Amino acid sequence: MSPMNAQSQIEPPLGLILELTHRCPLQCPYCSNPLALERAHDELPAAIWLDVLDQAAALGVMQVHFSGGEPTAYQALPRLVARAADRGIYTNLITSGVTLDRARLARLAEAGLDHVQISFQDVQPDSADRIAGYAGAHARKLAAAARVREAGLALTLNFVVHRHNAQRVPRMIELGEELGAGRVEIAHVQYYGWGLINRAALLPTRAQLDAVTAAVEAGRARLKGKLVIDYVVPDYYARRPKACMGGWARRFINVSPAGRALPCQAAETLPGFEFPSVRDRSLAEIWQRDPAFARFRGTEWMPEPCRSCERREIDWGGCRCQAFALTGDAARTDPACALAPDHELILAAVAERPATPPAFVYRRMEGTQPSRTASAVITSK
Ligand code: SF4
Ligand code: SF4
Repeated sequence: MSPMNAQSQIEPPLGLILELTHRCPLQCPYCSNPLALERAHDELPAAIWLDVLDQAAALGVMQVHFSGGEPTAYQALPRLVARAADRGIYTNLITSGVTLDRARLARLAEAGLDHVQISFQDVQPDSADRIAGYAGAHARKLAAAARVREAGLALTLNFVVHRHNAQRVPRMIELGEELGAGRVEIAHVQYYGWGLINRAALLPTRAQLDAVTAAVEAGRARLKGKLVIDYVVPDYYARRPKACMGGWARRFINVSPAGRALPCQAAETLPGFEFPSVRDRSLAEIWQRDPAFARFRGTEWMPEPCRSCERREIDWGGCRCQAFALTGDAARTDPACALAPDHELILAAVAERPATPPAFVYRRMEGTQPSRTASAVITSK
């Protein structure tokens, strides 16, 4: 097959994740942003984002997720939403909710925003604020969620669960009902970046995991047809890994605040890659021809046991960033898989889970040198 034929068989990406900024008033210890956060002066100007949205529509992208950091901190957000809506792309705002006041929400709704996803740290206010590192965050989120429904927009509540809040999953689902959400996402922490630094502080027990799974199943049975409950299980207790991002460069393009195009948010942690920038390359060229995007796409790159495994086109070998974070080699089978040669690394982490969790290392701008706090740091804004 000629290279051109091979390229023409690459399906367009389903979604585009625009990390407009890494600025965020919260400090979640499992934040999916990289440890080295990008500064405001490096952020792309609106003109480039607008052009990226035009290109995305031409490429066949169906949905755009405005993310961050806190995307409402990016001033031109309503213009970007309007452009995406005008091009017929479904628009989703992924927000902490703490800055989503009435005026801001009205501008976004007017611009054509379709959906809002608000992240919650817990249902118990003092615990939620401690995890977020922000006094009063929980109350602001509740108010923002109510405003989203008043504005007639679709709402998802996202709860990241771990050892400090796993016992309150039934109440999380109830909160979704009370706030009129159409979807609740219960997602265990993913352990790379900030989550990996805080693994000992966050990893639940097997019994906690089983209780969360039972709560999700009970909620699904009780609320069938009324509320969708998505569930992201923790790799550390799974026998097989998840298909990270639906497979490397198969469904999503993530663009960092400075414009680097990535197959997933954590990909910048991988050494030896030169990820292309939307400042000087088109989205189509990046998607179809960039070597970094092609590197782990499909099954050709796979080592054994993935290469001859019947699940190779289901989980695509798991997460490349997790493979690198744990083994130092992004091309190895994800250690989360029980068949992986490095699976003992996962078993050891579970066995070494401390009975008393260490203090959180909060997500901070000085992220390349994270500092462990002796106690929860609460900031207000
Ligand atoms: S996970 Fe927390 S700190 Fe990270 S961007 Fe979201 S709200 Fe901000
Ligand atoms: S061996 Fe590879 S393809 Fe098979 S289940 Fe494990 S990670 Fe997935």
